[in-house]
Amino acid sequence: MLHNKLPSIIQPERMCREAPLEGNKLTGQMMLCDLPNLSKDILSPKETLVAVDLIFSVDSEGICCIKGEMSADVQLICQRCLKPMIYPLRAEICVSPVVSDQQAEQLSVQYEPLLTNHGEISMSEWIAEELHLALPLAPRHEPSCGGLGVSNAKQEKEEPGSGSKPNPFAKLVYIK
Ligand SMILES: [Zn+2]
Repeated sequence: MLHNKLPSIIQPERMCREAPLEGNKLTGQMMLCDLPNLSKDILSPKETLVAVDLIFSVDSEGICCIKGEMSADVQLICQRCLKPMIYPLRAEICVSPVVSDQQAEQLSVQYEPLLTNHGEISMSEWIAEELHLALPLAPRHEPSCGGLGVSNAKQEKEEPGSGSKPNPFAKLVYIK
């Protein structure tokens, strides 16, 4: 169940500008299934929740900034054994709202630009984008796969005596 529903549309810059000194806190949850264009790599059940924990403020240089985290325990396919696995997806947020690409280019390098539309942004679209950026390229069971995955995991171990030298033919092993 949703304990603290997030607003569907927010005005990030305004929330920063109007924040008290300690910042404007926005915490809440959204259902994974309410996110638009969700990656097909995410196989989580519909009721999976995304937790959002953000602070809107103005930094010492007068730049609006939003910092915090978006997180969800999602189900992905392990790229080693091809079985489902739970992956703790965490998107670290450190952004500054901008209204144009031009403004984004001028932004201080410490922040990623958050492009808003007339000062507004859809919370679900933003969350979906951040989660997609945080998706691992090749999620794998750690430290090793159970069941059928074990044989595959063994193949990846280095040959005895090979030391730490990279094997130039390592990638060719799977191409048959
Ligand atoms: Zn696995």
